[in-house]
Amino acid sequence: METIIWVVIAAIIVIIAVVLVRTFTFGEKPRVAPDALLPGVNAERFVQSLSEAVQCQTISYGEGTIPDGNTLEQLQAVLKKSYPLVHQSLHLEKVNQYGLLYTWQGSNPDLKPVLFSAHQDVVPVDPSTLDEWTRQPFGGEVADGYLWGRGSLDMKCQLVGVLDAVETLLAGGMKPERTIYLAFGHDEEVGGIQGAGHIAALLKERGIQLGALWDEGINILVGALPGVEGPIGLVGAAEKGYMTVEFKVDGKPGHASTPPPQTAIGILSAAMAKLEANPLPADLGIMQKMMRSVAHLLPFSLRMAFANLWLFGGMVRKKLEASEQTTAAIRTTTAVTVISGGVKDNILPHQATAFVNFRIFPGQTTDDVLSHIKRVVADERVKFKPVLTACWNPVKSSPTDIPFYAQLQAAIQNTFDNVPVAPFMMVAATDSRHYAPISDAVYRFSPYVADSAELKRLHGIDERISLEALEKMLEFFIRLMRSWSKG
Ligand SMILES: [Zn+2]
Repeated sequence: METIIWVVIAAIIVIIAVVLVRTFTFGEKPRVAPDALLPGVNAERFVQSLSEAVQCQTISYGEGTIPDGNTLEQLQAVLKKSYPLVHQSLHLEKVNQYGLLYTWQGSNPDLKPVLFSAHQDVVPVDPSTLDEWTRQPFGGEVADGYLWGRGSLDMKCQLVGVLDAVETLLAGGMKPERTIYLAFGHDEEVGGIQGAGHIAALLKERGIQLGALWDEGINILVGALPGVEGPIGLVGAAEKGYMTVEFKVDGKPGHASTPPPQTAIGILSAAMAKLEANPLPADLGIMQKMMRSVAHLLPFSLRMAFANLWLFGGMVRKKLEASEQTTAAIRTTTAVTVISGGVKDNILPHQATAFVNFRIFPGQTTDDVLSHIKRVVADERVKFKPVLTACWNPVKSSPTDIPFYAQLQAAIQNTFDNVPVAPFMMVAATDSRHYAPISDAVYRFSPYVADSAELKRLHGIDERISLEALEKMLEFFIRLMRSWSKG
């Protein structure tokens, strides 16, 4: 008896020791970012050009369409007028009519090129919200320390910012060793196939493999982590996949007075209920990687939990599943978004249909999701197939142990007061996925500080960006471009 007690006590001590050792060794040493001096940054031209760019109503209205060609030409004229050195020194190609591909030729052809991606289009303004806007949505007004309007955040600020950085570097006499591409699609908000899709295909056709790619993404978030005060710079080093699945059940039309035990609607509803009750398995890997990068900031309990998922994994998962935001960060999500069937209250429905939208976690595939559906629904009467225009696999996660990432991290930290930086995952789609076949290192990061209230303006009412943020953004692009361009 006594031996057993001693064995149990010894086991507990070992477990505690393992937990503590893992907790204290969890995390990466925060890297010291070398400070790089900047040429004099003057954001005045940037603000002026962005204001003019916001006034061009390059609106993407719906799937399969592009913005009105006149508005795109108007925007491109603004870019051309604002950045004369860029248009003298870089080679510009129009791809699929309105896509822009600028090449800034590097001096060393042995170095893999890098690419900066941005989109020219914006989402529409809901006319029913017009009177809630403080400023004209396409006025591009500068007032109260902000530049207001649709696209000021998503993402004309970054499109114009990239060009302003190149103009500034050209004025300073920079000659890149590595070739730099600027690729600006014109239909990101409706899938990006016409713009980024065509540009990526062209580069692939030319046999180009990129060293690294920058695109819009997550930003410097305030209040992102419980127990961590201050902002954290989150880099989207992974991006979820996407699939909409159409479900169909056929029924026998007839009189509602003599119904079968289940109508087409009943069968379909049961299938939907099963899918909601059986989510795809959770994966804490990406969350853990992010936590590891900021481990030195975490409260002890959080650090211990993430350092010891072998012991606390179940508990951590339950906690993360308590909110929609964090659930989306650990698994493929299932959203039943459309259901229809039946024509009249006293007629049996001859058919019921539904659409379910899945956002696929990196590491899983569209096929995995389809076999999950088959297993969970387990009903031959329920037919389903993916909607092919709304179906793609997640992009493979990008490495965070290569110089390109370290340089990105340094550019963020040098610009934003040494803010902690961590890799994370985009739950929304960006143009960058089109470039996945030609780049293993894709980083989605929007260089501005924002809390969740500010981010609600993106695609929402009173979209705006502060003038201070624009100056920082320009600094960031200059830093990143300068360090990425070196061999
Ligand atoms: Zn965007």
